[in-house]
Amino acid sequence: EEPILKVENLKKYFPIRAGILSRVVNHVKAVDGISFSIYPGETFGLVGESGCGKSTTGLTVLNLHEATAGNIEYRGNVINEIDKEELRKLRKDMQIIFQDPFSSLNPKMMVGDAIGEPLEEHGITKGKETRDRVIEMLEVCGLEASHYYRYPHEFSGGQRQRIGIARSLALNPSFIVADEPISALDASIQAQIMTLLEELQEEFNFTYIFIAHDLTAVKYLCDRVAVMYLGHIVELAPTENLFKDPLHPYTQALISAIPVMDPLAKKEKILLEGDIPSPVNPPSGCRFHTRCRIAEDICTREIPQLEEKEDGHEVACHLVK
Ligand code: SF4
Ligand code: MG
Repeated sequence: EEPILKVENLKKYFPIRAGILSRVVNHVKAVDGISFSIYPGETFGLVGESGCGKSTTGLTVLNLHEATAGNIEYRGNVINEIDKEELRKLRKDMQIIFQDPFSSLNPKMMVGDAIGEPLEEHGITKGKETRDRVIEMLEVCGLEASHYYRYPHEFSGGQRQRIGIARSLALNPSFIVADEPISALDASIQAQIMTLLEELQEEFNFTYIFIAHDLTAVKYLCDRVAVMYLGHIVELAPTENLFKDPLHPYTQALISAIPVMDPLAKKEKILLEGDIPSPVNPPSGCRFHTRCRIAEDICTREIPQLEEKEDGHEVACHLVK
């Protein structure tokens, strides 16, 4: 099967400017050479601590940030190279769900109009048709037709996320980047939004990247997961394998930190010491070596490449045989 999205050696650097001439003095290497493919119908998790490059990856594959280097191929189109008009056509097929839907909604616009706006902009529907589509979207997203005439501030966080999801889905996209869609919500609301995403995927058949720092949500929703650390993917595996048999020391630490409900379950907690180093001057060799408890000499010298160790289970670590 052909991937819907194929990312090859993707880099996204942000320039740091200084001085009165505002010269570029350095770069934040937010994403520094990552490759992965996503297949139709998949839910693909991207996890890691804040600053690891997961959101930048999501925005860059949608071309909302311009890639610094590498290839992003969406259904055979190299989207970081095609012209504006082609990109505009693809735009409605590739949507984003934001972490904070409130900031992406115009406070002075009725939510119905906000949801309908992209439909009219892309010339998909007009007038009454748009209204009908919006009401349908409100209802499938667990809201009510009467909410059409209300304003964003009248809704709770969970409801606003439902509005954000309705707006992204109104265009019936095939591919969605959900950038930490539940991180800002209370635990009980998080579960509701996860269930909603599952139901909607069933109904609308989209493929999506689910970005999170919370491994619990990823375990529940995703088919495969890529773990990121300082701009690199350090491990990529089917979700079950990743949780049963994490190979990278960083993944092992993240998984060991998930609270266990069973008080009798014995689990060693691996503490991650220190902070994430700066993505401006990342550590040499393996970027995780400053925090890795089994690091050896080679780790400070050579960058480990992502290699397949078991079926579909890739890891970047010198010491995993
Ligand atoms: Fe640790 Fe070395 Fe493996 Fe990096 S390559 S995770 S430093 S053992
Ligand atoms: Mg983020």
